Amino acid sequence: MQTQEQKKKNQEVSTGEQSLGADFDYAPSIESTDIVKINPKNKLFIGGKFVDSAEKKYFKTENPATGETLAELTEATAKDVDSAVKAARKAFGPWSKLSGQERGRYLYRIARLIQERSRELAVLETLDNGKPIRESRDIDIPLVAAHFFYYAGWADKLQYAVPGAKSAPKPLGVVGQIIPWNFPLLMAAWKIAPALACGNTVVLKPAETTSLSCLLLAEIIQEAGLPEGVVNIVTGAGETGAAIVNHPDINKVAFTGSTDVGKIIARSVANTDKKLTLELGGKSAHIIYEDAAIDQAVEGVINGIFFNQGHVCCAGSRLLLEESIAETVVEKLKARMEKIRVGNPLDKNTDVGAINSAAEHVKIKKLIETGKTEGGEYFEPSSVNLPAKGYYHKPCFFNRVSSAFTLSRVEVFGPVLAISTFRTTQEAISKANDTQYGLAAGIWSEKGSKIHKTAAALKAGVIWANTYNKFDPTSPFGGFNESGYGREGGRHGLFPYLDI
Ligand code: NAP
Ligand code: MG
Repeated sequence: MQTQEQKKKNQEVSTGEQSLGADFDYAPSIESTDIVKINPKNKLFIGGKFVDSAEKKYFKTENPATGETLAELTEATAKDVDSAVKAARKAFGPWSKLSGQERGRYLYRIARLIQERSRELAVLETLDNGKPIRESRDIDIPLVAAHFFYYAGWADKLQYAVPGAKSAPKPLGVVGQIIPWNFPLLMAAWKIAPALACGNTVVLKPAETTSLSCLLLAEIIQEAGLPEGVVNIVTGAGETGAAIVNHPDINKVAFTGSTDVGKIIARSVANTDKKLTLELGGKSAHIIYEDAAIDQAVEGVINGIFFNQGHVCCAGSRLLLEESIAETVVEKLKARMEKIRVGNPLDKNTDVGAINSAAEHVKIKKLIETGKTEGGEYFEPSSVNLPAKGYYHKPCFFNRVSSAFTLSRVEVFGPVLAISTFRTTQEAISKANDTQYGLAAGIWSEKGSKIHKTAAALKAGVIWANTYNKFDPTSPFGGFNESGYGREGGRHGLFPYLDI
């Protein structure tokens, strides 16, 4: 339980300021980390308690902004996963028999505790992930709470969620959920909230590099008095995820991550009766027509590709410009990129924080080298300086790329944009659809009819018009083709967790 003092601190706005050094020509304002207490060695959350693994194997998680170790985490073995599944199975009967109203009450309680401890959660997320504090504080954590509030409201209305249902559909049972590192707590909320609202119990594995906020969520779940075993959180590597997928007593697997791992999981469950949803990668097109509000569109492009360091599955990573405005947009984009502040994620002025891990940093740099070899025109802002320690990359783009270029086809998952041009609406549509993915797209035009015509022809799960990267719990999210199948969010986000 939090003390009154901790609660007060959680609600206060930090005023602590430190000097960031010569790299920055503005007054830095650094969020204090005093509010967060990180356990040096972390346990697994099974059956409502924090427990040791029988094997006692640990791995480290670091702060990518500095490269310093934050804590050690337990690497859960197949045996630990089995304990977690057993705890979830035991909890399933009583939990699924609770009235929807009672289940909703627990979810509301979790949502409120997330709001109360939002500052602590935001700072921890930024420390472990590297994302700017402004984003974790103003976007991620409020959305996490919003997802719990939203699905709390559905818990006693399930019969109205499914067209034609005469009574509330039944839950599936024990669900295994595996999430990536780019929005750790938000992905956990997208998975846990609808599963619980429908009456399922959960075994969730966060990503190796970003497990700390999920363990704090476990603490919140304990504080909310959720019955033991309804949510179990096991930390670990890929093998831990595989142990969940392959456990015979799992009824459903929900996975968000790379297309490669998604394919492995699809093969593993192929000859079982497990249900599966996959939220995978993307290479989303961002189209700007000549009649668009150009300055707003440039802001949209910046947000579309540089939000969260570009570690966004639906990032607008392919910019398609109508030929007549291409030069103007590129020049405006360059000028705007010179003003992006890359650096300490805890600085409230930072726009682009740290790349999540050394491995991702290497992968991004390699893809940029490939882009340079293939001959795109590379640009990175000269006035942006990077901190000496930690993993950082300048926001950048390649202009005049053809659709054969690696950067037009492969998901970089970093702050790298690929730009090309089109002459007609038809060409914009066919270029946008020329991808193995189908997660998202963006359209900029002042003409409603053009937006509707384009949107109707695009093969993408989410299409934004005159904005980009806006999320809301009421809106379903998911992809086509190699971006996966199933929807999360909104009423549709309930279906994968119900027997219908
Ligand atoms: P990843 O390497 O596929 O990992 C995702 C999760 O799967 C991690 O928890 C990972 O554990 C685990 N895992 C690894 N191998 C596994 C296996 N064989 N069986 C079961 N689980 C396994 O992806 P990532 O690098 O974390 O995330 C980036 C990717 O996620 C990008 O491609 C991005 O587009 C996608 N993404 C999609 C969405 C969406 O909604 N469509 C949202 C966010 C991200 P470890 O951490 O230990 O490797
Ligand atoms: Mg980390």
